[in-house]
Amino acid sequence: MEDFADEIAKLCIDKYIKLGKSGKPTETEWTVLSGIVLRKGDGLLSLVALATGTKCLGEIDLINTELYKDGCRLNDSHAEVLARRAFLRYLYEQINLLLDGTKSDVFTMDDKKKLKLNNGISFHFFTSQTPCGDCSIFPKDEFCENDTPPMKIRKHDYDDAGEVIMESYNDKKEQIIKDIYRTGAKCVKTEQYQDPHLGGVNYHVIGPLRTKPGRGNPTLSLSCSDKMAKWNILGLQGSLLSILIPSIKMETITVGGKCPFSLEAMERGLHKRFNNKETPGLKIMQAKFSFQQQKNHKRKYPCPSSIIWCA
Ligand SMILES: [Zn+2]
Repeated sequence: MEDFADEIAKLCIDKYIKLGKSGKPTETEWTVLSGIVLRKGDGLLSLVALATGTKCLGEIDLINTELYKDGCRLNDSHAEVLARRAFLRYLYEQINLLLDGTKSDVFTMDDKKKLKLNNGISFHFFTSQTPCGDCSIFPKDEFCENDTPPMKIRKHDYDDAGEVIMESYNDKKEQIIKDIYRTGAKCVKTEQYQDPHLGGVNYHVIGPLRTKPGRGNPTLSLSCSDKMAKWNILGLQGSLLSILIPSIKMETITVGGKCPFSLEAMERGLHKRFNNKETPGLKIMQAKFSFQQQKNHKRKYPCPSSIIWCA
């Protein structure tokens, strides 16, 4: 599966490299790259949607503006969300092809004139870094005080039945301060549990819905973890297209290499926190292949422009 993750990452990154300069970050800027890949029945992979983006409008910038009233302001321009928008456009195009009598890579029409998905096809999501929000909250690998390496030894106390009744760490372990990766995404105000913002691992609470991170005036948009969880459970197609077509699920999600990643946090963020009873068929992976224009010590500022492309 690791090779498959790299194939997906490479398809998206190679296409991005071939696109023109317009909308790409400068040398000091970073961006996120997301894409959706179609695997056909014969196993052939083809990229169908691609986007970059880091920005999200605040509530004040959005509501009560003329552009908003005209439907001309886009709230959420994170790469994951724009890639899905590009994907929806691709799906409409595929429906058009079929209605024009041309063969579609995605749909066929059955005897009752209903659209169904072609046999054996599947869709694979790529994002160059862990989605903002719940999926981004997990312990850091290296955390220490006085440069002491983390101790692996733990003392367990057992009851008569051999069950662990208490976990305690040896003295050296207690010097080590555990820390977590943090997200700027704030808990939605109506959520029962809110971040305590205490030190180390007690900074965040996990599970609640969050709005998109960002300085300045707060946004109304949900974090990418929350939106992707919705796509994972209900499908990528959205409510309007679901009138015409069956639900389209992501079979795999690949996160690009060289960025903080936790399989456990991804699984929690994308389905386990919603008590989704169905056994999800979703596979989550991290590629070794990484996106060169992601955030690093040289690229400190989020690129304000976005690119949207679809097949
Ligand atoms: Zn995001």
